[in-house]
Amino acid sequence: RVHLKTLTIRGFKSFASATTFEFEPGVTAVVGPNGSGKSNVVDALAWVMGEQGAKQLRGGKMEDVIFAGTTARAPLGRAHVALTIDNSDNALPIEYSEVTISRTLFRTGGSEYSINGNACRLLDIQELLSDSGLGREMHVIVGQGQLDRVLHATPEERRGFIEEASGILKHRRRREKAVRK
Ligand code: ATP
Ligand code: MG
Repeated sequence: RVHLKTLTIRGFKSFASATTFEFEPGVTAVVGPNGSGKSNVVDALAWVMGEQGAKQLRGGKMEDVIFAGTTARAPLGRAHVALTIDNSDNALPIEYSEVTISRTLFRTGGSEYSINGNACRLLDIQELLSDSGLGREMHVIVGQGQLDRVLHATPEERRGFIEEASGILKHRRRREKAVRK
């Protein structure tokens, strides 16, 4: 089983300053008043794991994940999230007992991704996670109001969940990429 160890957020949504969450084995609960940033933590998790849909991240465009500023603090030029995963039982197909993936988006438009400090492509992160049970689809991250969507999924949507869970989506993404070329 993969186990999330730490999540570090800087310049992502309401987290202007670097903030690190440490996850102990077992269930983690995030509590706080309305609007305090609980869902933003979940968005950061989805984002670093490869989420590409602005709507899934509750924004209009991807740039909306970058700290937009408050009356007390100027907007930032980049959002950065890093996630460290315990891989001591080799659930991820990589020869490290600990894996850190990171994603940075610049307001000027560029993106950077890394696996254990080495620059990589978004696809590399998606592929690394795709057979692990972690992934971008909502069977892993079920947001507010989304439970309803799972319960009322169309057969087509249900097929998407099953494909992701079984690792087929990785191959479809590869094929779509090849076809686009
Ligand atoms: P609830 O209990 O109502 O679900 P929550 O704790 O889940 O609340 P979030 O939705 O995580 O709250 O956080 C909402 C806050 O995040 C809002 O105050 C919003 O202004 C702020 N926020 C979202 N995106 C950005 C951004 N790009 N820059 C700055 N602040 C942002
Ligand atoms: Mg919320």
